[in-house]
Amino acid sequence: MTDFSRMWIGGEWVAGESGTHPVRNPTDGALIAEVPEAGVAQARAAIAAARAAQPAWGAMSPLERGVIMHRIAALITEHAEPLARLIVREQGKTISEARGEAGGAAGFFTYYAEFARRIQGEILPSDAPGEQIWIQRVPVGVVAAIIPWNYPAALVSRKVAPAMIAGDTIVLKPHEDTPLSALYMARLFEEAGVPAGVINIITGAGVSVGAALTSDPGIDLVTMTGSVPTGRRIMAAAAANLVPVSLELGGKAPFIVMEDANLDLAVASAVTSRFMNCGQVCICNERMLVHEAIYDEFVRRFIEATNALSIGDPMLESTDIGPKVSAVELEKVERITEAAIAEGAVPLLRGGRPDKAPVEGGNWLMPTVLGDVTPQMGIMQDEIFGPVVPVMRVASFDEALEIANDSRYGLSAYLFTNDFARIMRAVQDVRFGEIYVNRVGPESVQGFHTGYRNSGPGGDDGVHGLDAYLRKKTVYANYSGKSPVGLMPWNA
Ligand code: NAD
Repeated sequence: MTDFSRMWIGGEWVAGESGTHPVRNPTDGALIAEVPEAGVAQARAAIAAARAAQPAWGAMSPLERGVIMHRIAALITEHAEPLARLIVREQGKTISEARGEAGGAAGFFTYYAEFARRIQGEILPSDAPGEQIWIQRVPVGVVAAIIPWNYPAALVSRKVAPAMIAGDTIVLKPHEDTPLSALYMARLFEEAGVPAGVINIITGAGVSVGAALTSDPGIDLVTMTGSVPTGRRIMAAAAANLVPVSLELGGKAPFIVMEDANLDLAVASAVTSRFMNCGQVCICNERMLVHEAIYDEFVRRFIEATNALSIGDPMLESTDIGPKVSAVELEKVERITEAAIAEGAVPLLRGGRPDKAPVEGGNWLMPTVLGDVTPQMGIMQDEIFGPVVPVMRVASFDEALEIANDSRYGLSAYLFTNDFARIMRAVQDVRFGEIYVNRVGPESVQGFHTGYRNSGPGGDDGVHGLDAYLRKKTVYANYSGKSPVGLMPWNA
């Protein structure tokens, strides 16, 4: 039995100075753990521990750091099943999705460990004889990482793995509702031999602990995945210290289906992309734009496939959709749905709360499909983050692109067509950071997960994601025995 009553700061397992915080199972509302409620002083202590550990960690060879990371990946793989079950218990996604998440959590460590021999600098020609100019890539220092509740294990790895290979140390705060996976993984980090203070996992409230971490002058980089309002607060806090910020915020992915698309593929993909993780993914299909020639057929098939989904206990292999993560999130989705209906949207499939809960005490919400929507309605502009989707008829590809781009979000977009010219046109004109053509997500670790506009500046994954965790140092190495000043064109 994992002990969730302590968090990991400076290599020590400590209780929260502000008491404890309950964690409930979204499937039945049962209390599953009491985790530490950290105070602001503990946030500062975690930063101090990370700062103290960074010079030695950064001075280790990347290969040595990579060895520890490979051990972490092996331990996560070994513990994949209990970790997956824990993800289900605290977050509510289905067991098969949770297994995928646990695999992904290991994958970030193997992927970034392989950068041990690939963090390269540059040598540039100098203007003066007898001199070389180098640009080295060095650790940024101490990282504050803040993550949301929808991927409580994979997002830990997504932030920790690049920080480790870069030679940074890190303080990570999981979401209040889903801190268990991070605490479980902290035990694996310890077992893998991560030195004290290199990774610190601190549990507590965003408004106190999160704010303390992101506004502390001892932090060199803030990386956060979460909502737009919190992203704004974090950017403002980090501005006081003039430190870089990488934000992965919400999405409002358009899902465009043209008349020439493979309809079987488009329908199956639209269903998966809306209802995976109960619709709680930043890259989910949030608004469907379907060509009028196939609209009726598409909607009929989409509703038929949606009706065939099994909603219930996410621990069962046969379940397709589990509960919403919390009552608060459930009510948010209900509000946006009701507002859309009040604005004139017509339910083509009316979900809402089931008459009989699949499991008593859970946060259950059945799928809803809304027709007769217009681009300016809230349901077409605001992130839903649940099992509700609007569908709109479009007369042309141009119209689809125009509506797709008319969004303050800019994370992911989907296009289903077999027309090469349309695909290339979308690649050029769709103003989103990630475009999926004839396939569902999720993104790959070697890609770059980045959003435009309110989806936030920065990004994660791949070589460009790693870049944020490194800074550059330029060296002018004179071996001529003379001062190069006077030999250079602009001060000769
Ligand atoms: P949230 O913004 O409410 O919380 C995210 C984290 O921020 C939590 O750990 C929270 O404690 C912390 N926090 C809250 N206030 C803070 C403050 N003032 N200072 C510092 N930290 C603070 O978001 P959420 O509800 O957990 O997550 C859902 C959102 O996350 C959705 O909008 C979703 O689209 C987005 N998301 C984006 C991606 C992506 O990659 N773009 C991935 C997953 C989720």
